[in-house]
Amino acid sequence: MSFQLTRSIPYGRQHITEADVQAVIDTLHSDFLTQGPKVAEFEQAFARYIGVEYAVAVSNGTAALHLCALALGVQPGQRVITTPITFAASANCVRYCGGEVYFADIDPETALIDLKAVRRLLEQHPKGYFHGLVPVDFAGLPVDLEEARRLADEFGLWIIEDACHAPGGFFTDSQGQAQRCGNGQLAELAIFSFHPVKHIATGEGGMITTNRRDLYEQLLLLRTHGITRDAQRLTRPDEGGWYYEMQELGYNYRMPDMLCALGLTQLQRADEGLQRRRELAAQYDAAFVQVPGVTPLAGAAGHAYHLYVIQVQDRRGLYDYLRSKQIYAQVHYIPVHTMPYYQQLGWQAGDFPHAEAYYAHCLSLPMFPSLSDDEQQYVIDCVLEFVQG
Ligand SMILES: *Cc1c(COP(=O)(O)O)cnc(C)c1O
Repeated sequence: MSFQLTRSIPYGRQHITEADVQAVIDTLHSDFLTQGPKVAEFEQAFARYIGVEYAVAVSNGTAALHLCALALGVQPGQRVITTPITFAASANCVRYCGGEVYFADIDPETALIDLKAVRRLLEQHPKGYFHGLVPVDFAGLPVDLEEARRLADEFGLWIIEDACHAPGGFFTDSQGQAQRCGNGQLAELAIFSFHPVKHIATGEGGMITTNRRDLYEQLLLLRTHGITRDAQRLTRPDEGGWYYEMQELGYNYRMPDMLCALGLTQLQRADEGLQRRRELAAQYDAAFVQVPGVTPLAGAAGHAYHLYVIQVQDRRGLYDYLRSKQIYAQVHYIPVHTMPYYQQLGWQAGDFPHAEAYYAHCLSLPMFPSLSDDEQQYVIDCVLEFVQG
């Protein structure tokens, strides 16, 4: 092989430019380190990008999920359904509020929550038994939220779309309309993360999107200790310029101004990054289409490709082989219901056979915009070397 590897290759990596660095330096020289003008600017730019009315920047994706569960009024004993193939935070947000997490198995073709399995679960119980659904646009493949909405309306559920993997992704609804992930048309709330492996990287950071003004206002309150200074919302006469009221038990889940500045410059390159992700996915697809023993997950026009997942017989062997070649592939995810914490709550291995079979064979190959064609070819060659012996 003539290509010389000059760096190890992780499954995901942030891309920081001089413009990003300068944007952060500029805020360090400004008057605001935490809640300054960049917060609202980033929220408005992000809302425009997603095509939604309101966006609320928060300290990370997990805080976004927690605030969503609070704003929707999750209480002890309430039951919420999510997928076992996700990052644990999609389920944990329900536990933070004392709710009970239920899972529905995945569709083995897509690894997304199987909405038919959700329907079966809902039909086994009286209406009102479940309160909400947290579908995840896993790997960047958008969930069919039109079908999810139908279920939600029939059974009286709210929906939090966990769109951490899919900013810029979309699915095509039955009217032929592209529905962008997080646009608030079909779900009450959606959330995003700006963790370094995600499309937009600010270190820590997250965003909640919605079209519901009441939820938006509630989220603003909860993000900052439940405190308001808004004259319209005060319940007592204003006692002076310093006056504020703490009206609910909120949190400090704010995203700092300097990270919002970074988010803004990152957002300017979001379309470019997404285009490159789709190009890399098409190149992987072409390389593996004729290869028995390498099965990529289903693609789609609106896929946002946070991850590029293949399934192979000897997953552990391939993982170790790639590591020996300085390729740090990753596994997404160990099914949430098999985590010791969730097993203490009564879930068991064997509960969700499709999720467990998927987990036994899945591997996420390097997928990030700055992955070069030569590096990708090196990854492909290494996968083929291993699989073809
Ligand atoms: C990254 C991620 C989260 C959590 O985001 P953080 O910003 O790391 O808290 C939640 N759900 C999914 C699906 C994620 O990928």
